[in-house]
Amino acid sequence: MQLTVLGSAASYPDAGRACAGHLVQSGATSVLLDCGNGVISNLGRVLDPTALSAVFITHAHIDHFADVYALEAALRYAPAGPLPPLPLYLPDGLFDLMAGALTEHGSRELAEAFEVHELKAGEAIRVGGITVTPTPVEHVGLTMALVVDEGDARLCYTADTRLCDAARAAARDASVLLADATLPQEFAGRAPHMTPAEAATLARDCGAHTLVLTHLWPTVDRAVAFADATAVFGGRVIVADEMDQLHIEQ
Ligand SMILES: [Zn+2]
Ligand SMILES: [Zn+2]
Repeated sequence: MQLTVLGSAASYPDAGRACAGHLVQSGATSVLLDCGNGVISNLGRVLDPTALSAVFITHAHIDHFADVYALEAALRYAPAGPLPPLPLYLPDGLFDLMAGALTEHGSRELAEAFEVHELKAGEAIRVGGITVTPTPVEHVGLTMALVVDEGDARLCYTADTRLCDAARAAARDASVLLADATLPQEFAGRAPHMTPAEAATLARDCGAHTLVLTHLWPTVDRAVAFADATAVFGGRVIVADEMDQLHIEQ
């Protein structure tokens, strides 16, 4: 499978960077993991947004779902007419929260654009050749890490989380760890996110061969983030950059 970084910034879009969004593709299957501010713009550089197979949203923070409304416009107002509802997987209650920001008419249109499914912990979802398994982590409210399997290859996207046993359980046996690395070292423990060094600890403990640091606060020095992670983890470290692509074979 192939991973494409569409958004590597935490909480607000950085100059030229979008908020949370990562595309996973396998054959004809294209799955979007989170859909934060600016993600649909970057998605359009590699794929027609209406060609997605499914969208997964990890939790109820705006930097992870703001562009669902943009995606709805692409689906509903496609030149040939409204497209069939796109499968949208998200934690319990989040779709109602998203609809609550709209008028009654707008919320009805939102519901027509998507086929809404609730993410349930440990319940694997098959999309084409890949399987996505939501696994709860510790952040704010219900937050699901997403474990993506294709054959022997396993990608774990931690979503937003503190370093904890739940994150370790989600990351178990991952070959590639796509990890929250929001906090610079001096802010460690001040918010339910990881530092690059904590993300690297998780990568080391789960036996991953590659760590991709993502969800970096826009003011974070990315060279320092890389150095902090490589000091802990001996495998390959990548600081996610928009439109980076990574083939994951094992
Ligand atoms: Zn976030
Ligand atoms: Zn969050």
